[in-house]
Amino acid sequence: MRDALVVGGGLAGSAAACLLARAGKDVLLIERESAPHHKVCGEFLSVEAVAHLRKLGVDPLALGGVPIDRIRLVSGAVEAEAPLPFGAFGLSRYVLDEALIARAAEAGAEVRRGVRVAEIDGRIVRTNQGDHEGAHVLLATGKLPVREKGVAPSGRAENGFVGFKMHYRLAPLAARRLSGTIMLALFDGGYAGLQMVEAGRANLCFVVRRTLLARIGGDWGALLDWICANDAMQALLADAEPLFDRPLTIANLAYGIAAKRPGNGAVIPLGDQWGMTASLTGDGMSIALRSAFLAARCLEAGEGAATYGRLVDAEAKAQIRRAMAFQYALERPLLRQAGCHLARLLPWTLTFAARATRLREWVEDPVEDRPGTTAN
Ligand SMILES: Cc1cc2nc3c(=O)[nH]c(=O)nc-3n(C[C@H](O)[C@H](O)[C@H](O)COP(=O)(O)OP(=O)(O)OC[C@H]3O[C@@H](n4cnc5c(N)ncnc54)[C@H](O)[C@@H]3O)c2cc1C
Repeated sequence: MRDALVVGGGLAGSAAACLLARAGKDVLLIERESAPHHKVCGEFLSVEAVAHLRKLGVDPLALGGVPIDRIRLVSGAVEAEAPLPFGAFGLSRYVLDEALIARAAEAGAEVRRGVRVAEIDGRIVRTNQGDHEGAHVLLATGKLPVREKGVAPSGRAENGFVGFKMHYRLAPLAARRLSGTIMLALFDGGYAGLQMVEAGRANLCFVVRRTLLARIGGDWGALLDWICANDAMQALLADAEPLFDRPLTIANLAYGIAAKRPGNGAVIPLGDQWGMTASLTGDGMSIALRSAFLAARCLEAGEGAATYGRLVDAEAKAQIRRAMAFQYALERPLLRQAGCHLARLLPWTLTFAARATRLREWVEDPVEDRPGTTAN
């Protein structure tokens, strides 16, 4: 029996495996992909994510991440720009996730790649290459569900979002215009983010409501026309060279906090398995990393799923609610236009919104620093 089985070698899983292995625990990390891979993500690393990564020995700058210190919001012909209230980075998930899984292995976690978990039955994890048992199972499969005995599968999100991503080599002038800036373009039924990442690449990532996708049609050309109906987007993407053969896509994005798990608390959900914040705010990676720190610290301190649940709720629930309210508000045409005009007239409101939709600052020891945390 292992001390911990970690299912999923993304940000949350690799971070948790790394921390637990550093604490001397016997950890097995299981990742279904056998090699580095791209993921649908805006690749905007906010200040808290960077703080957590540095604690793990991963420096976004050393990996080629590009600093981002401004936000540009566009809706129709209205454009607003403001400084971010913190320094952020653009870094691809291809590079970042690989660095983190390598850290987990260096710390002493056993990493098995190319192994898919098919089912979790309490403390038993069943994979396509055999079963494993752990005192704790940390579920970190991101947006992908895993069958769990005794837990009802989550349904299809009603008119949920579908996400897309493509990397580009921009024309030189466009790359200079975008440099140091995260650009968010708001539309009816979705939004798009565009920013630079490492090696002179730009990342275009967007989400659309399923109903809108059905109207536009699933064709990539038609989707790009929809994005480029916005002049500011068109100006940056004109003559851009796509760097993937085809766009990456992910369906059925269900934002919000996942339902509580019944049972004996053997399974601890991390990252997107615990909850998915509105992607517009670019803070999902921070929450994933934070959940890993909280879970690792709880297990190290001999505490279990219940204490972890309380800590993660206290730190991230309100952030997710604020971020979701913000995303829903911007979906309404009148509020969206009013918000963009306000941001153009008073750029500090944009800076304020960027601050308000983040996790709080770093807490050194979440278990000891929080009053009222008791052992299970
Ligand atoms: C459109 C969009 C844009 C976003 N933009 C941003 C942004 O700009 N900034 C930001 O901070 N956040 C952003 N996010 C959120 C961010 O991507 C997620 O919150 C973050 O990736 C969650 O990390 P995770 O470790 O929980 O899951 P993931 O990073 O998804 O990792 C899950 C891992 O589990 C593995 N896995 C899955 N199933 C199995 C299985 N059965 N067996 C074994 N392994 C398995 C997968 O291969 C994967 O490696 C965005 C999200 C979306 C949808």
